[in-house]
Amino acid sequence: MIVLKFGGTSVGSPERIKEVANLVNTSQKKVVVLSAMSGTTNSLVEIADYLYKKNHDSANEAILALEQKYYEVINQLFSTIEYKEKGKELIHSHFTHIKSFTQDMFTLFEEKAILAQGELISTALLHYYFNEQNIDSVLIPALNFMRIDKEGEPDLFYIKENINREIDNNPTNTIFITQGFICRNAFGEIDNLRRGGSDYSASLIGVACNAQEIQIWTDIDGMHNNDPRFVDNTKPLANLSFDEAAELAYFGAKILHPASVQPCKIANIPVRLKNTMKPEASGTLVSSEINGKGIKAIAAKDNITAIKIKSGRMLLAHGFMRKVFEIFETYKTSIDMITTSEVAVSVTIDDTKHLNDIVKELKKYGMVEVDTDLSIICVVGDFIAESKGYAFKVMESLQNISLRMISYGGSRHNVSLLVNTSDKKEALNSLHNNLFNHV
Ligand code: ADP
Ligand code: ASP
Ligand code: MG
Repeated sequence: MIVLKFGGTSVGSPERIKEVANLVNTSQKKVVVLSAMSGTTNSLVEIADYLYKKNHDSANEAILALEQKYYEVINQLFSTIEYKEKGKELIHSHFTHIKSFTQDMFTLFEEKAILAQGELISTALLHYYFNEQNIDSVLIPALNFMRIDKEGEPDLFYIKENINREIDNNPTNTIFITQGFICRNAFGEIDNLRRGGSDYSASLIGVACNAQEIQIWTDIDGMHNNDPRFVDNTKPLANLSFDEAAELAYFGAKILHPASVQPCKIANIPVRLKNTMKPEASGTLVSSEINGKGIKAIAAKDNITAIKIKSGRMLLAHGFMRKVFEIFETYKTSIDMITTSEVAVSVTIDDTKHLNDIVKELKKYGMVEVDTDLSIICVVGDFIAESKGYAFKVMESLQNISLRMISYGGSRHNVSLLVNTSDKKEALNSLHNNLFNHV
């Protein structure tokens, strides 16, 4: 069994959906995980936003525009009158459902149900397309097996049990199609694995089915050595270890959802990153193999907030750190970077939901300063202790950038630097030129 996940652009047009059908139509048993067609989830978020604000006119306008787009997709995807009709009925029923939410109270529950429609539609379209082509495929609804618990963590036992039952019910089939991103929560309500979460769905499914490999098909030929949205001449990496890929994903390499590597690492299932537009390109293989030493890639994560606790009575007294960390634990807020000095401790967070409460509690221990609009730049590789000069090369590249925090030595895979977001692009480019371009 293998798992293949296709992202938004990979199913972004009727031609691309046909190309996906072509790529997965082989005799090997597989689960095909799809995202919504590109742009759809953003439109659904916009619609939900209008509904929260009770702006029904704008919501209806956006719903109609999206619905119209799908009728055009149907027209080009299917060639027979029978399937054009079936396709229209499908779109009509999903959009009738979306429109039903414009009548009542609008809460998180309705929002999640609206956001789920993109993946429900894309998977039904691929399934119908296979039917029209007389190719057997089975649609297994993610809402029947993908579940998160009260903490928002995947319930792997439930997922395993239920997806395998769905697959075992169809012993002669080889192509199973399912939705990425969507799931049910501990109360059985429709929920999701957060934006970009289809990669995470693919990993969880791969682990649940004990797949030989998980393939993430996207619009680029693998993990590049820097963020191609901000830096020119980035290059794909042939191999990465799970740890290196996890660091890059966590620190902003959008090609992988931050949580998607860990389950594969634990189950030791290789992840291959492939380009739908260029299937012959070898892409990146993420596995337990450690390949090559030194600096391999750079990523950046935005929307970082730094909190500094300064020179209180308790500072550096024994037990102080525990008290500080307990505050973050109480508010379920994870810390990304930490630096300490004789008189202060600084930490960074990206989830600011409980910032006010955290600051209030921290003030018991000293003066607290909060800084926003920061980015963490993360330099990833395999930095063996005997090899000297990695940190020097990184610092040298950033001599013109004001550095807010530096973290080195936490693991042998990562140097992290905190900069103002306004300096991020320059920092990424300077690092790229200094670390990769003249070797
Ligand atoms: P999908 O819709 O297929 O899930 P995403 O847009 O989520 O695709 O991820 C692919 C995008 O990730 C690429 O188009 C690229 O712009 C961006 N990206 C950011 N950092 C990297 C990186 N280091 N390597 C490759 N792609 C990256
Ligand atoms: N469709 C969802 C999103 O746009 C999930 C995904 O694409 O991975 O966030
Ligand atoms: Mg993605």
